[in-house]
Amino acid sequence: MARAENTELIDSFEELYRDYYRNEIGELAQKYPTEQKSLYLDWQDIYRFDPDLADDVQNHPEELRDYAEEALRLYDLPVDVKLGQAHVRVRNLPETTDIREIRADHRGQLISVQGIVRKATDVKPKITQAAFECQRCGTLTRIPQQSGDFQEPHECQGCERQGPFRVNFDQSEFIDAQKIRVQESPEGLRGGETPQNIDVNIEDDITGNVTAGDHVRVDGVLKLDQQGSDQDQSPMFDVYMDGFSVEIEDEQFEEMDITEEDKTEIIELSSEDGIYEKMVGAIAPSIYGYDREKLSMILQLFSGVTKHLPDESRIRGDLHMLLIGDPGTGKSQMLSYIQNIAPRSVYTSGKGSSSAGLTAAAVRDDFGDGQQWTLEAGALVLADQGIAAVDELDKMAADDRSAMHQALEQQEISVSKAGINATLKSRCSLLGAANPKYGRFDQYEPISEQIDLEPALISRFDLIFTVTDQPNEAEDRNLADHILRTNYAGELHTHRVESGTSNFSDEEVENVTDDVAPTIEPELLRKYIAHAKRSCYPTMTEEARQEIEDFYVDLRTQGADEEAAVPVTARKLEAIVRLAEASARVRLSDKVTSEDASRVIDIVRSCMEDVGVDPETGELDADMIEAGTTKSQRDRIKNLKTLIQELEDEYDDGAPVDVVVERAEEVGMDQSKAEHEIEQLKQKGEVYEPRTDHLRTT
Ligand code: ADP
Ligand code: MG
Repeated sequence: MARAENTELIDSFEELYRDYYRNEIGELAQKYPTEQKSLYLDWQDIYRFDPDLADDVQNHPEELRDYAEEALRLYDLPVDVKLGQAHVRVRNLPETTDIREIRADHRGQLISVQGIVRKATDVKPKITQAAFECQRCGTLTRIPQQSGDFQEPHECQGCERQGPFRVNFDQSEFIDAQKIRVQESPEGLRGGETPQNIDVNIEDDITGNVTAGDHVRVDGVLKLDQQGSDQDQSPMFDVYMDGFSVEIEDEQFEEMDITEEDKTEIIELSSEDGIYEKMVGAIAPSIYGYDREKLSMILQLFSGVTKHLPDESRIRGDLHMLLIGDPGTGKSQMLSYIQNIAPRSVYTSGKGSSSAGLTAAAVRDDFGDGQQWTLEAGALVLADQGIAAVDELDKMAADDRSAMHQALEQQEISVSKAGINATLKSRCSLLGAANPKYGRFDQYEPISEQIDLEPALISRFDLIFTVTDQPNEAEDRNLADHILRTNYAGELHTHRVESGTSNFSDEEVENVTDDVAPTIEPELLRKYIAHAKRSCYPTMTEEARQEIEDFYVDLRTQGADEEAAVPVTARKLEAIVRLAEASARVRLSDKVTSEDASRVIDIVRSCMEDVGVDPETGELDADMIEAGTTKSQRDRIKNLKTLIQELEDEYDDGAPVDVVVERAEEVGMDQSKAEHEIEQLKQKGEVYEPRTDHLRTT
């Protein structure tokens, strides 16, 4: 340190306080110690006061903190209190360090990192000074405790014998302690890098204020921790931070820089005629077709408006969509492309690699000192205010399934386990992909029965697309042509880059690559979306409202007579509103017009026709999706039960299964359906088997 004299440093801080922090210290004195325990210093103030002092604070933060705290204790207070245990916390460093850029050189320095809290332990008391009471003479021996192992006295300070000792808690000193893991924010990552993280220990008044999923800025000292055990120490070290201050940042897309030039370009683009087609061309250009799906992905990226009603309830604006389809149809490719254009996104697989899975979990692990319960945020929390692309959604863990409903509709996740009670925000859109139950769609079964997700969950999706892979000569030729052209473009490009000399002219290469290049640069599109979501809150025009209402009422009237199925429920209506708002946002328009309404009604109708039509009647049936059974199926079940009731009177041991199936066939229900329905009845407990292959109703 430049200055050797410690008193000089203490004097400097006292002067700084007088010049800059008179009011803050007065306030602290009023509120200490119940409401406030810390004096926060802005690093920029210290720099303005004395650049050398600011440098020292950055390079020797812990020593300087001690001087700053000493200066605070010496400060002349306006009221008669002692700030004995008050902390001085420095924050607002001039720049933040990327978590992945932390190096050995940072050791011992004050640094500032930004990110999202991935894990947080409960706040637990930590002993800072243990009072050991000698069981022989009663003398107290006080031993200060550092992090790491618990230190016991070598001998009693009174009788000089080696104990035995008992820790006297009343005479010991404790402090609240918490450990958090801060992970790089999703928007800081490009092209699917694995996020890196750093653990931060915090103490006393700054504990308990943040939870998993919060976006934070942490200022603290970088520390090293030797790897390996006591017996087997390694030359490698882990890094962690002792946190001086933790601030929650709740700004959307904080890292997005949109310049005036960008804005001009965005506004020009938004008024182009073919903007919707252009947007579609900007998504996964290497994937052929799927214009409808890609348009919906665009709408999802822009999202509807989240509405707050006067009664304080909230209607989500985020759109959830699901792609279910045959293997090898480009679903994963489309999903992972989202990362290139979404301002904030998380891409993961339903199988999940972390213990928190898709939602959140209270886990007991080695994070923190010893085994301790920790709250860990999963993908839907990390994607808060963004989009979560989840591949293989059908493979998700059982725990996630139950938490998922709440996550999708209320957009928060409650965890209540082992004394941890927390509600995490998950205000994100879900883009899911799944395979059908048997790997590939069976065209003879209703699609709704081949989706391996429970109906309550499926009904939360605003749009469900099914992708079937059936040979079709014209389509196959187009697809083959597209894939070959994409690959050729890749070959030419790579050839030119790698071999230096090339027989192909620049023009040739550009012609081919232009064919498969995105119509809008991903960087620009990302800014476009962020700008629209920040500044555009469209409202419905009368014509749009009318058009949506007509669509809904027309469909509902089909279901008006008692025998017919319910074709659509009110849930779809909200989905259409959200989609229409998103459609207006694409143009940066304040008004949802009737064109927006027609555009999204077309999409919704075609989705419903894909999955919502009962193949037995050819009619739309909302229950296929929302309840998991069709009306014709429910009728069949009713009939089957009546049949079993009739037969069980004829046989002593209950109705034999083969006879039931035979009778069912006589009335036109095929064997596999009947067997399937019998299974269902058994599962629901409506029939049971008094003897093998005999049935009785309950
Ligand atoms: P899925 O996740 O549906 O099983 P993938 O996304 O893994 O399928 O796609 C498998 C491969 O097939 C990818 O390399 C992809 O590029 C290619 N592919 C499938 N469908 C298309 C398509 N419509 N256009 C271009 N490539 C496609
Ligand atoms: Mg896949």
